[in-house]
Amino acid sequence: MASPVEALLRDQLTERRQKLEDAADLIPGDEQVRRLLREVDAALNRMDKGTFGICESCQDTIEADRLVADPLMEYCLDHLTRPQRQALERDLDLAAQVLRGLLPPPSQRFPGYEVARHYEGAGPVSGDYCDAVGAQDGSLYFAIGDVSGKGVAASMLMAHLHATLRALVPLNLPLDQLVTRASGLFCESALPSHFATLVLGRALRGGEVEISNAGHVPPLIVRGRDIERVAPTGIPIGMFCDARFTSTRLRLSPGDTILLYTDGVNEARNDSGEEYGIDRLTGHLAKSAAQAAPDMVGALLHDLKVFRSGAAQADDMTLMAVRRLD
Ligand SMILES: [Zn+2]
Repeated sequence: MASPVEALLRDQLTERRQKLEDAADLIPGDEQVRRLLREVDAALNRMDKGTFGICESCQDTIEADRLVADPLMEYCLDHLTRPQRQALERDLDLAAQVLRGLLPPPSQRFPGYEVARHYEGAGPVSGDYCDAVGAQDGSLYFAIGDVSGKGVAASMLMAHLHATLRALVPLNLPLDQLVTRASGLFCESALPSHFATLVLGRALRGGEVEISNAGHVPPLIVRGRDIERVAPTGIPIGMFCDARFTSTRLRLSPGDTILLYTDGVNEARNDSGEEYGIDRLTGHLAKSAAQAAPDMVGALLHDLKVFRSGAAQADDMTLMAVRRLD
């Protein structure tokens, strides 16, 4: 039986075929339209024969995220021709540039807060997400997230999540409703197998902070040597279209920092396979609590580098520090 993803792709291809036929009526004889029609028909034909998603050269499975990005794929990554491979590399470079354009600046100031971030994909494109944006009422929204899966499909959903939250923030909704809406929108447009963990926070000028943690690794509140964890208040977004979300409230004193990170940080491993872990992260933060946000991020990266001692980075890694100023 065809997988749900294949069923979804079939719908997509059938719809695309209809559009191409309409286009062929409008511009008869257009070589590109005719070629695309042939390719779409060939893909639909492969679905009928049960050979869809199988490399024509080695009969191995084609990488799922590549198929989702382009259901017309006929070859696995190992069996692309040289021009195909070069075209793919150009596309990936372009996608990476687009994604970098969505990131907030490495360090920023907002009324009463400074924010610093570090973003490092394990591959050219990443499903990690972070953002910090000031609202019209002077409050600061900050977010970090991790889309399930890897590669192009995950990064497209990350871009989608970015656009969704940027569109929702100006509506000035209560935070729990904002996350509930974002989850619904993500659910409607993402593949059934995709979801995202997300922390969304709103910080007011006077230090009042509200945080919703949808299934993400716990943000750490750094108050001098005291480090508190903000446990998840709900499941990841996009899993169920009608899921509801809640939030917790806390208060930051001047000098307190919220450290947000993705699991690529706490799950980083050294050559002996040992995990960096949240306890080590907490221990390190207790020593760097007095630092400005960019220095705190820099010091943590240094500690991770020393810990890894040359072991390769296996996962995307994102860090963001939100510090209340004096
Ligand atoms: Zn192959």
